[in-house]
Amino acid sequence: MKNHAIIVGAGLVGSLWAVMLAKRGLKVDVYEGRGDMRKVGFVGGRSINLAMSERGWKALEKAGVADKLRDVAIPMKGRMMHSVDGQLTFQAYGTEEQAIYSVSRGGLNLELIQLADEYPNVTFHFNHRGRGVDLETNTCRFENTATGEHVTAKGDLIFGADGAFSTIRGSMQKTNRFNYSQTYLDYGYKELAIPPFEDGSFRMDPNALHIWPRGKFMLIALPNTDGTFTCTLFLPFEGEVSFEHLNTDKEIMDFFETYFADSIPLMPTMLEDFKNNPTSSLVTVRCSPWQYGHSVALMGDAAHAIVPFYGQGMNAGFEDCTVLDNLVNDLNGNWDEAIKAYSNIRAKDGHAIADLALRNFIEMRDLVADPKFLLRKKIAGHLHQKFPEFLPVYSQVSFSHIPYHKALEESFSQDALFEKILNIENVEEKWNSEEVEAIFKEWYESQALANS
Ligand code: FAD
Repeated sequence: MKNHAIIVGAGLVGSLWAVMLAKRGLKVDVYEGRGDMRKVGFVGGRSINLAMSERGWKALEKAGVADKLRDVAIPMKGRMMHSVDGQLTFQAYGTEEQAIYSVSRGGLNLELIQLADEYPNVTFHFNHRGRGVDLETNTCRFENTATGEHVTAKGDLIFGADGAFSTIRGSMQKTNRFNYSQTYLDYGYKELAIPPFEDGSFRMDPNALHIWPRGKFMLIALPNTDGTFTCTLFLPFEGEVSFEHLNTDKEIMDFFETYFADSIPLMPTMLEDFKNNPTSSLVTVRCSPWQYGHSVALMGDAAHAIVPFYGQGMNAGFEDCTVLDNLVNDLNGNWDEAIKAYSNIRAKDGHAIADLALRNFIEMRDLVADPKFLLRKKIAGHLHQKFPEFLPVYSQVSFSHIPYHKALEESFSQDALFEKILNIENVEEKWNSEEVEAIFKEWYESQALANS
């Protein structure tokens, strides 16, 4: 019987997983390298807010915490594109009722830690930085960062939820036939802020994710419940238009005036923010298997760190919790089987969402400003309305629980379908015609046949 679990990392995924394990009645010890954010505040080092979509909500519902968090989540029903001359174009993400939700990273993490800590069978050990695990004896090593003391802890189950640079994964990397890769994007990101108007109201429509797509780079903004927006500039580190050329006040102002002029009046502290805030990097980590033996498993970014352009990193990590929890149920509490099955089922989905996220960067920074692409979205939306069983890839990823690897597979097929449709002469005028529907129906039937 496995009764005692150790979770390394009390980030978003580790703290949610602690709630799920606590509900099962396991004794849970959570070791977190940082101090208790309820006392020392949230030291994120990453995005201030995040987009939560269906997969994330489902996991929160399973843990019984969704309702509490819905009250502090802002629905974003689509993308609001800002052109160079300040024109706005709205593009819905899905149907009228569908939205992704902006949530505060610190607020969510704090709430999850608090909820987990309310269970008597959960103990948090803050300021305990993992230094690796002896995989044969399930013994984790920690350094108490407050005292310098080194301690060990042994569990029946060990979960590495310690983020992109996981030390649990580090120990697994030294084992036979463990696959691992880490790739940095040539782009960095920097956060900036849009404060509210003096009366506390938002300076832009809060029910949209704002994007300033500029081909090779972009600015985005997500709303916060305090009336602010958090903006993120994604830009190459080096090259003609890049962070390396944005050093002086003049260079920074010229850059914003050229590419994001309408954002300047919205960001009174832009120059200070630009100079004071760090330029961070973006990494993709892939590995497999996600388990060692029957007792050790990786979850969240420790298993699959991805670039943020699909807004799926946390959602995928939360879905890891749903999948593993369901497997334990389906296998009548047999953790040995569940952990193996989890790795088998889930690693290919981790690889797929990593690919989808990289592809979506091109969509966000470039294609959303392309009339052909907008037309494709319009036709896809129309087809979805008329034939609800057809789900555009964005909806599969954000509004469904279809495994990511299936969504990725279908994305290639949908690309071929829309290439054919967009090649129809004067398609702009007959985007909802029978001709379009005939091509769609032919494709749909061939898909159904292939999947039968
Ligand atoms: P983390 O959040 O990294 O948490 C890991 C925890 O482990 C931390 O608390 C850390 O202190 C602790 N830790 C690390 N090392 C050790 C150690 N050795 N010992 C003990 N503790 C340790 N995802 C979305 O779904 N939607 C979005 O809109 C979105 N936007 C993003 C924007 C940006 C700019 C970035 C960078 C990411 C974004 N993500 C988004 C991804 C999301 O942030 C991550 O997928 C998510 O934080 C993963 O959660 P995690 O708990 O696995 O890891």
